[in-house]
Amino acid sequence: MIAPVALHTARWVLPVTSEPIEYGCVAVFEGSIVGVGKAHEMRQRFPSSVENRHEDAVIMPSFINAHCHLELSPLKWRITPTGSFSSWLSLMTRARENIDKDEVASSIQQAADELVRGGALIIGDVGNTMIVPSVIKGLKDGWPLRGIHFFEIINPEDSPDIVDSILSEPFLCDGDMVMMDIGISAHSAHTVGKDTLCAIKKASQESAMPFTLHIAESDEEIEFLTEGTGPMVNIMRERGRDMTKIAPPMKGPVSYLDGLGLLDRLTMLVHCVKVTEKDLDTIRDRGTSICLCMRSNTFLGVGEPPVDKMIARKINCAIGTDSLASNDRLDIFSEMSSIKRAFPHISPVALVNMATMGGAYALGLDKFFGSLENSKRTPLISISLKEQPASASELYELIALQGSKEEFDIDIIW
Ligand SMILES: [Zn+2]
Repeated sequence: MIAPVALHTARWVLPVTSEPIEYGCVAVFEGSIVGVGKAHEMRQRFPSSVENRHEDAVIMPSFINAHCHLELSPLKWRITPTGSFSSWLSLMTRARENIDKDEVASSIQQAADELVRGGALIIGDVGNTMIVPSVIKGLKDGWPLRGIHFFEIINPEDSPDIVDSILSEPFLCDGDMVMMDIGISAHSAHTVGKDTLCAIKKASQESAMPFTLHIAESDEEIEFLTEGTGPMVNIMRERGRDMTKIAPPMKGPVSYLDGLGLLDRLTMLVHCVKVTEKDLDTIRDRGTSICLCMRSNTFLGVGEPPVDKMIARKINCAIGTDSLASNDRLDIFSEMSSIKRAFPHISPVALVNMATMGGAYALGLDKFFGSLENSKRTPLISISLKEQPASASELYELIALQGSKEEFDIDIIW
């Protein structure tokens, strides 16, 4: 028997790519959106539908956490901010070696629950161990999240050959719908050699997957890449890395990657705190996306990414939390508020856009997620509103500026 069309009606519907609709409706059939509009119009258009009323709420597409590391979730509260990127890196590396294996799976599930409670069901997750896919496969009640899990190459000695076979298959499907896909990523330009960076990009292109890496995150990274000196040299040596494989290019990371031909529409650069005006021009010209992880940058004391300059250039920006080793919460609401605090003139509309379509576009998933449009298959979220906005712009403010997910009751509408 074919299920009827489901009408999800609410005081507000926020499609993201078009104006909010008061007394709106999203019509869904077999997991795909088939109509977005005024509730009374949708009832007429789909007379034998089933209606789910969400009353004084706003229905919108799931938020997208474009950069996280669920496998580092056991490190929550284990590392205190030091104000120094290199100190944090040393602490994190040591703490990671001491993770109790028994708590990994449960902490990953807790982190997934936190994402769901905050309405962020689409993720760009990064890991080095494939523990997240194995946890997902072992879950009896299904996996609540969708998106991409990137197997990250992090060592200069690593070759992408080890994961070529993994790239060819999505690891979680629901019928025809790929719920979680496997990608391959590089940790950074200062930890992965030139040939391997190019090979990862090529493998990503061949499987139509995005290429992503941490870039321009700290002064220490810039010093290593541009001068071949600084604390990164000692850290890499202490970790037994083959320094001959990562000869510093003697230029900044953006011009280095651009010279290798690695910047294009399907590249997502994570952080971009230490970027120049020229770097931003290059990123804009290549159509490359940036993923902002503002609270992680604050935690590490590395400074703030120049978000105002990115927006002025119309660079696509996504939002990520990074890991619980450099953030105390996986909360897109907190990230939006942090960006707003640092750049007060950035509009709530721009922030919501980054947290939804910006992430979908950066991950190459905009065909499915990020907005309420016909044929998209995004999970919908319903956010209860304690006060009713007087206008569409007030609605955006209520969502973008509340500061944390605890301010809302969020229901997931699949
Ligand atoms: Zn990260």
